[in-house]
Amino acid sequence: LTDGPGERSETGVPPDGVRERVALRFGPRTLTYGGLAGAAGALAARIGRAERVAVWATPELETAVAVTGALLAGVAAVPLNPKSGEKELAHILSDSAPSLVLAAPGAGLPPALAGLPRIDVDASASGTVPEERAADGDPALVVYTSGTTGPPKGAVLPRRALATTLDALADAWRWTGDDVLVHGLPLFHVHGLVLGVLGPLRRGGSVRHLGRFSPEGVARELNDGATMVFGVPTMYHRIAEALPGDPELAKALGRARLLVSGSAALPVHDHERIAAATGRRVIERYGMTETLMSTSVRADGEARSGTVGVPLPGVELRLVEEDGTEITAYDGETVGEIQVRGPNLFTGYLNRPDATAAAFTADGFFRTGDMAVRETDGYVRIVGRKATDLIKSGGYKIGAGEIENALLEHPGVREAAVTGEPDADLGERIVAWIVPADPQAPPEAEELADHVARRLAPHKRPRVVRYLAALPRNDMGKIMKRALADA
Ligand code: ATP
Ligand code: MG
Repeated sequence: LTDGPGERSETGVPPDGVRERVALRFGPRTLTYGGLAGAAGALAARIGRAERVAVWATPELETAVAVTGALLAGVAAVPLNPKSGEKELAHILSDSAPSLVLAAPGAGLPPALAGLPRIDVDASASGTVPEERAADGDPALVVYTSGTTGPPKGAVLPRRALATTLDALADAWRWTGDDVLVHGLPLFHVHGLVLGVLGPLRRGGSVRHLGRFSPEGVARELNDGATMVFGVPTMYHRIAEALPGDPELAKALGRARLLVSGSAALPVHDHERIAAATGRRVIERYGMTETLMSTSVRADGEARSGTVGVPLPGVELRLVEEDGTEITAYDGETVGEIQVRGPNLFTGYLNRPDATAAAFTADGFFRTGDMAVRETDGYVRIVGRKATDLIKSGGYKIGAGEIENALLEHPGVREAAVTGEPDADLGERIVAWIVPADPQAPPEAEELADHVARRLAPHKRPRVVRYLAALPRNDMGKIMKRALADA
């Protein structure tokens, strides 16, 4: 279907043999490569010529067919979160101005979409794959960022970026057509859509979507021949919590060729618990909507908790200090902003030339806004986001992440987030937001502060501890730090 390596043909129609292979499985429904080529080809003909089409991205077979059809038609697809609130949906629709919406038959669309022509995606249609191909630099997708730090921005992703990021991951992970991916993520972000659906399709492998993530679902698929799991940290947290009472889960995870986490930092505590129970270390990869994937631990490399590996092939990555100097030392200490350049990058934010211009340096590097250090062996260790995770307190620059990791190791803590607040003496003071394991008996503030100071350093001691019933998180499980004060 794509111009991927391995089995392909001039027309884009998979050669014999591949046609029979299962490409997609969503619950009980499957589609072979031949079936997908037919359904997506038929859909491409119905889409015809358009600049952008919206995809109502429910976790169903039809979403994968819709995006593939748009790719074949050479039309940019804008995946929509079916759980978006009215305001967010209205913002995305007026910003992206799609000319029609692709949806699964029977999917109920909200009033905001009522004015758009609708195409019901027919997963059993059989059309031919169009011969004409869009150019590498043409937009393939407009994906909205997760909205963790502000209103979501539409990142325009060219076809080239998808292809290069997937091939770089294939290289790093030795990802082949024999791999079967267990998938439990939503389909409207890069993680679930580009890595989780287009990734297996580019390799000629298959994807099994759970519909709804559960540790039992992951175990079932791994016992039934699946080889890889992609997840976000909240999923691995649920797995880590389930492991002590479920030896079968540990055995199933031990069978996986690759367990991969991304989209946010995987807490060290969860990484270590999974390693201890299964003998497998979760590999982290670092990326974002704008850059697709930038770093990962290689399949044959050493996965160390708290690190996201090395730059992927073709990706230039540098750390830059506030005054613009590049950090050349691999000392595990000097913190700088991650800047990235390469064919994996987006071309700009839709309708936001100012934000686009501000995001790039004069020499074409993208400013990620994420802060990191490089370990002595070149591994990247992410400290956190410049805007919310770097606390300047008493002359020190302190990363929220390591304090969160230390707090999570306390048995009385279920969830933890750390922020900085203005402080007359210190500049900023460290605030810990805690969800106690037992709400009836929360650990005392003093005890938590001592716990952190003992593990890390006295200046990393939280000055204030606030207790919450739950942390505010978005649909990818990311902590919305700007919403903490309201919570
Ligand atoms: P918005 O840009 O709208 O505020 P967002 O940045 O969360 O939202 P995404 O593009 O989905 O939107 O997420 C990218 C961010 O996720 C990165 O900039 C980084 O902060 C974080 N991230 C991704 N992978 C990792 C990882 N392995 N470890 C730590 N952080 C990660
Ligand atoms: Mg972002």
